[in-house]
Amino acid sequence: MAFARKKIPAARLIKGLQKLYPEAHCELDFKTPFQLLVATILSAQCTDKRVNMVTPELFRRFPDAAAMSIAKPKQIESLIKSTGFFRNKTKNILGAARVLMEDFDGKVPETMDELLTLPGVARKTANVVLGTAFGKNEGFVVDTHIARLSQRLGLTKEVDPVKIERDLCAQLPRDQWSEIGHRLIWHGRRVCYARNPECIACALAPDCPSAGKV
Ligand code: SF4
Repeated sequence: MAFARKKIPAARLIKGLQKLYPEAHCELDFKTPFQLLVATILSAQCTDKRVNMVTPELFRRFPDAAAMSIAKPKQIESLIKSTGFFRNKTKNILGAARVLMEDFDGKVPETMDELLTLPGVARKTANVVLGTAFGKNEGFVVDTHIARLSQRLGLTKEVDPVKIERDLCAQLPRDQWSEIGHRLIWHGRRVCYARNPECIACALAPDCPSAGKV
């Protein structure tokens, strides 16, 4: 795709998204930071809807790091199979639960550096947990929707998530990173699709440098 030449003014983007999705929130179901961590690991290459179908039974049987850390891989695999890449996800979930028990008293840590020591946790997952479970804006979540929208809106020319995150953090107010992230994801899921975005119906179109060009 051709990158946009101009960029949407940040203040107008923030206002527009706020108006469109005042109630935007994380669409994964969870009751604790640990459950959000697991749900986010499961959401790789999978829809939140699908993840929310498997987590009720998974969390009923293994609600916290203590229970999860002694689960057998086969038990987890059979419960999460439909989310895809289930062997690798099982390895990461069990590994994370064990590290939480060994190094963090079974609690999910609240810093980026500590979260990154958990198996299967990279910056995206860590940012989801920090922003949504703890209300801490240490970084900006960059998932597939946010990467795509950031490029289309002219907020970045990068494709590497770490560089996209750097660009977003530089342009958007830190105290709103988490809520802006949720709103961008909602817009990506409801209007600015990967294929055939609905520019004609998009409220951001007047300011979007990619309107009608994708
Ligand atoms: S739907 Fe079109 S106009 Fe709206 S943000 Fe996406 S590319 Fe821009």
